[in-house]
Amino acid sequence: MSEQTTASAPWPDGVIARYLTVVDATVDVRGGGDYASMTCLGCGLHYSAFNETRTRELAQGHAEKCRAMPRPAMTA
Ligand SMILES: [Zn+2]
Repeated sequence: MSEQTTASAPWPDGVIARYLTVVDATVDVRGGGDYASMTCLGCGLHYSAFNETRTRELAQGHAEKCRAMPRPAMTA
């Protein structure tokens, strides 16, 4: 059985931090310093108005409670 999970997949370019949600999606943080952004790959939540420290906090907090599933590549 393959164990290729989201957590072990290569990070996209520009991602500086990544938080795993309870449903195996990730919240990716890009940028740094005064201008960072985060995107939840589960529900699509996006913030880009905060610095890196605050953005990391938001991303981690969101990852702990987000239960949205990533949109499947193929729909039935
Ligand atoms: Zn989310």
